[in-house]
Amino acid sequence: MLRFVVEEIPESGLEVHHHMDPTWISPLMGPQFSPGTEGLDLTADLTRADRLVLVQGRIAGHATFQCSRCLAESPWTVEVSFRHLFVEDEVHARRFPGEVSEGDEMETSPYQDGVVDLEPLLAEELVLSLPQAPLCSEACRGLCQRCGKNLNEGPCGCPAEEEDPRWAPLKRIH
Ligand SMILES: [Zn+2]
Ligand SMILES: [Zn+2]
Repeated sequence: MLRFVVEEIPESGLEVHHHMDPTWISPLMGPQFSPGTEGLDLTADLTRADRLVLVQGRIAGHATFQCSRCLAESPWTVEVSFRHLFVEDEVHARRFPGEVSEGDEMETSPYQDGVVDLEPLLAEELVLSLPQAPLCSEACRGLCQRCGKNLNEGPCGCPAEEEDPRWAPLKRIH
């Protein structure tokens, strides 16, 4: 489904619509993110010039994540845009020897056997788009360290400050 024979891509371009199934996305995202039940949608334009294939794509949809502080489930709108150039492997080795330098605005990768496979590209783009330590809100109060209550829902019953341990023996007298 996401593999395209390069010779069959018309010079006029090819538009691809693909539904990314939650069962495929979920392991990529890891435990903090969930793709929901609907999955994500890919729209991509493939343009070929001889043995170069330019892919311009967008992954969009609705997912959720678990807040890094309060652990509450929060909505997250996925919107990832990418451009990637596939180059036939022999040509790639000749034109792009070694690593692609940092300043290059477009990433390239080789394709083999005359077939471009979008699946690894989508997986990479999706994973790179995931925010590190996402929060439900910048002002998230997190959980009480003692009782575990979500402090965004209001204060818990725990004393505000640690009791002075010097009073502990006095308490035992009563
Ligand atoms: Zn939170
Ligand atoms: Zn508490």
